[in-house]
Amino acid sequence: MAVEAVDLVRTYDLGGVSVSALRGVSLTIAAGDYVAVVGPSGSGKSTLMHLLGGLDRPTSGRLVIGGRDVATLDAGELARLRNETIGFVFQSFHLLPRTSAVDNVALPLVYRGIGGRRRRELAAAMLGRVGLGHRLDHRPNQLSGGEQQRVAIARALVTDPVLLLADEPTGNLDSATGESVLTLLEELNADSGVALVLVTHDREVAGRAHRQVVMRDGAVVVPAAAEPGAETG
Ligand code: ADP
Ligand code: ADP
Repeated sequence: MAVEAVDLVRTYDLGGVSVSALRGVSLTIAAGDYVAVVGPSGSGKSTLMHLLGGLDRPTSGRLVIGGRDVATLDAGELARLRNETIGFVFQSFHLLPRTSAVDNVALPLVYRGIGGRRRRELAAAMLGRVGLGHRLDHRPNQLSGGEQQRVAIARALVTDPVLLLADEPTGNLDSATGESVLTLLEELNADSGVALVLVTHDREVAGRAHRQVVMRDGAVVVPAAAEPGAETG
C-alpha cells in the first residue's frame, strides 16, 4: 500500500478565521495505482497533495505513507520519508538553473550517502530512461520545456519512490509535448510500479487514469453522489 488516508481534515487559521481546506477525505492508493485528482480551483487538491507528499500534516485524521503513520514521525523523520518514498513533479520544473541535467537528477541521492561517481551513474541511467541520455551535461536553459520536465521526472524517480505526485505536470507545455510527457509518466508507472497521483484540469487526461478522485469543497465526491440531483450538500 502506498498511501492510506482516513478522514483527513486540514484547517487553516487565518487570523482567527478558520478555513477548512479538507473536510474529511479518505483515500487508499495501492502500489502501482494511477489516480487522477480533479476538481475546481479551491476544492482542496493542492492541500491533499501536500499532505500525501509529507509537506504538511493533517489537522486530524490518519495518514499512512509507505507504511509509516505520519503522526508518529518528527520533522526529521518526515523529511526522510519524503526523500525515500515520494517523488514530486510540478507544473514549473524547479530545476537548479546553473546545474547540469545529470547533477540535478543526482541531487536527491546526496542525502543517502551515495558516492559522487555512483550518483552520477544512477542519474545518467535514469536520464536514459526518460529519453535524455544525450543531454547529461546540458543546463536547464539549454533544454526545451519538455526536456526540462523529463529531467524533473528523472530527479523524482532516481530514488525509486513508492509514490509519484504530479501536480499539473503538463500545464506549462504545448499539447504535443504535454502528451509525450504524460505518456512517459504512464510508462514509468506501468514499468516501475510507482503509484502515480496526477492533478489535472483536463478531463480527457483524467479519464486515462485507473481511477479518478473528484474533489469539491474539501471533500471527495463519491461516484453515486456525482449524479445530477443525487447530492444533498
Ligand atoms: P485547489 O488546489 O483545489 O485549488 P487548495 O488546496 O489550494 O485547492 O485550497 C483549498 C482551500 O484552502 C481554498 O479555500 C484555499 O484558499 C485554502 N488554502 C489552501 N492553502 C492555504 C493556506 N496555506 N492558508 C490558508 N488557506 C489555504
Ligand atoms: P495551484 O495553482 O498549484 O493550484 P494555488 O494557487 O492553489 O496553486 O496555491 C499556491 C500555494 O498557495 C499553495 O501552496 C497553497 O497551499 C497556497 N495557498 C492557496 N490558497 C491560499 C490562501 N488562501 N492563503 C494562503 N496560501 C494559500
